[in-house]
Amino acid sequence: MKHYNYIFAGAGLASLMTAYRIAVSGNFKEKSILLIDTDAKKTNDRTWCFWEKNEGFTDEIVYRKWSTALFANNKKRIDLEFNGYQYKMIRGADFYNFVFAELQKHPNIEFVQQKVVDFVDSGFNVLVKTEAENYTASKLFNNIYNPSLAASQKKYPVLQQHFIGWHVKTTEPVFNAEKPVFMDFSIPQKGNTRFMYVLPFSNKEAIVEYTLFSADLLADAEYEQAIEDYLKNLGISSYEIIAEERGSIPMTSYPFWKHNTKNILNIGTAGGWTKASTGYTFKNADRLSAKLVQFLSTGSDFTKFHKKSRFWFYDLLLLDILDRTNQNGSQIFSAMFKTGKAAPIFKFLDEETTFSEDIGVISKCPKGLFLASLFRRSVNL
Ligand SMILES: Cc1cc2nc3c(=O)[nH]c(=O)nc-3n(C[C@H](O)[C@H](O)[C@H](O)COP(=O)(O)OP(=O)(O)OC[C@H]3O[C@@H](n4cnc5c(N)ncnc54)[C@H](O)[C@@H]3O)c2cc1C
Repeated sequence: MKHYNYIFAGAGLASLMTAYRIAVSGNFKEKSILLIDTDAKKTNDRTWCFWEKNEGFTDEIVYRKWSTALFANNKKRIDLEFNGYQYKMIRGADFYNFVFAELQKHPNIEFVQQKVVDFVDSGFNVLVKTEAENYTASKLFNNIYNPSLAASQKKYPVLQQHFIGWHVKTTEPVFNAEKPVFMDFSIPQKGNTRFMYVLPFSNKEAIVEYTLFSADLLADAEYEQAIEDYLKNLGISSYEIIAEERGSIPMTSYPFWKHNTKNILNIGTAGGWTKASTGYTFKNADRLSAKLVQFLSTGSDFTKFHKKSRFWFYDLLLLDILDRTNQNGSQIFSAMFKTGKAAPIFKFLDEETTFSEDIGVISKCPKGLFLASLFRRSVNL
């Protein structure tokens, strides 16, 4: 049975960011590393967007970036001030090519296309079973999300950021290529948190996504009808759908890190790296993969990697509200973005604010809802 120092079960966003950083650091040349994924990681299976103030390590593959965006509800349309932030978009296929081009330069890093079926930490090393063969690893990074962990408990609500998006080309010029639509709550809420999200590439081309933050998925036809209605409201009668993307991203404060062992670290969505209140994962994966590569040089017990922060608790409060009263999402996000100053909110969501800055953001939100949620959690934690 072949032994590796590090095995990555799943070569998704978090694994690839970590492996990339391991490779370019130059500090792990003596380590044998294996990435295992069922998929060849070549297709454009998703687009990632994230806000960033400075240059990022993926800047050379940024497909589009914007310096403002629109926030809307049924009363107002607000131009968001980014104050130095940019909203960047990366195509999945470009990211995979970028990372694999680097990994291929390192003979100590291998990739196999196999399905992982099991792994177990003996305390000494980790046995990793795939459908094709078995391996041992000194350390395993598990990037395979197991939805049953969060689903089988009731303490932490589990919502989904679920959506279908159409990449459309229109005959008439209708989009503003300089201004994505961050959240448009002016659509019927139907008792949920529902909004449209638009990423424009030109005045005739955009990805238009119907998105919900709620517990239950819809039938495909309902997302599709909502996109059709939205396009019609924009005055678009003639368009071609050139691609579709869909997703269901877990939004939960469930403590995935409790499943870490001395030699197994859960990373990415599997490790709770998805921001529970938004479903955004790219920036957390960027930040935490950098922290992880540093940790690997100094620490060896993976149960010590995770550090709980107050932001985890803020996310929990918001998810509690959305879980109990899903129709309140529009009101909460509208209150947050009311002034149009997006930068403090981006900083808060990136978990970079001071405590007094946290209060500044939270105090914009409907106080009654948050105080009731705080009270419930304080007697219930
Ligand atoms: C369509 C879509 C759009 C998104 N857009 C954004 C966005 O704009 N911004 C943002 O921040 N987040 C976004 N997300 C959320 C999040 O960033 C992604 O889901 C991200 O890819 C999650 O990264 P990850 O590391 O957890 O795992 P993933 O990238 O999902 O990778 C998991 C890997 O495990 C592999 N795998 C699964 N089971 C097995 C098995 N048994 N054996 C071997 N391999 C296996 C899969 O093939 C996959 O490669 C989006 C998600 C989707 C689906």
